[in-house]
Amino acid sequence: MPLINADLHSHSTFSDGTLTPAEAAARARAHGVQLWALTDHDGVDGQAQAAAAARAQGLDYLAGVEISVSFAGETVHILGLGVDPDDAALRAGVARTRGGRRERAIEMAASLAQAGIQGAFEGALPYAAGNPDLIARTHFARWLVDRGVCADTGEVFRRFLVDGKPGFVPHRWAALRDAVRWIRVAGGVAVIAHPARYSRLSPSAEAALFSEFVACGGQGVEVVTPSHSPAEVVKYAGIAREFDLLASRGSDFHGPGESRAEFGRLPPLPATLTPVWEALQDRIRRA
Ligand code: AMP
Ligand code: MN
Ligand code: MN
Ligand code: MN
Repeated sequence: MPLINADLHSHSTFSDGTLTPAEAAARARAHGVQLWALTDHDGVDGQAQAAAAARAQGLDYLAGVEISVSFAGETVHILGLGVDPDDAALRAGVARTRGGRRERAIEMAASLAQAGIQGAFEGALPYAAGNPDLIARTHFARWLVDRGVCADTGEVFRRFLVDGKPGFVPHRWAALRDAVRWIRVAGGVAVIAHPARYSRLSPSAEAALFSEFVACGGQGVEVVTPSHSPAEVVKYAGIAREFDLLASRGSDFHGPGESRAEFGRLPPLPATLTPVWEALQDRIRRA
């Protein structure tokens, strides 16, 4: 199979990205992406726009989602690729998962207020298009930057919103097995996103994550992502082979000037791995 430029992880204004699905599709196209997936956090409401925009841009498209899961005290992200975004079980599952965001945001604002930063909920809400069910730490981060509290979102995530810092509120997301089930019943492949990011998992907890993920029907791992150093790409390529997992590649693009990687510009997957899109040929919507 010829090498294709697949970028299967990105966000839009339907979660915590700053581009609309149409703007994201145009940007992906401009940077050479051939196969694209929009994978908004805990929601599929942008999928119809994304699929239409992909077609208009001449991009092949896989419908996607990134589901937040709680596992062993860590928040783990599970990508669903090639899902049917109209599947009722998937839609209900992600709606339930994002439903707790409003209460969490109110608690985050109370925690920031204790640190002397008032009005964070009202401040961050417009950054989430006024929808409290969408509100993410990213929206708080952008508000803190625009207010001059921090120079950039990187500084926000060092000083605020993370464990032990003002604005952090622990949260119970979906169960791993539920997220994988919703993805599978919707016809998709479940992929562990950016595994090197789960620093709270001990080596044994990480091994448990992979074995439980496989036991409940998970089939893929994101190997090439801006969250991984070259050494971590090698590590997770080895884990992909060990657990017989399909491999994915994605920029996790959130917006111009804010993301660690541009659309379509990451290195290719190691040639020894099976790309996840090879198993999803019948789910690709051809341009
Ligand atoms: P939430 O789902 O509300 O907990 O927000 C998680 C989002 O915050 C992630 O999807 C990223 O977009 C963003 N995020 C988390 N950690 C960082 C970080 N260290 N730097 C920049 N963005 C981050
Ligand atoms: Mn995000
Ligand atoms: Mn993620
Ligand atoms: Mn993401």
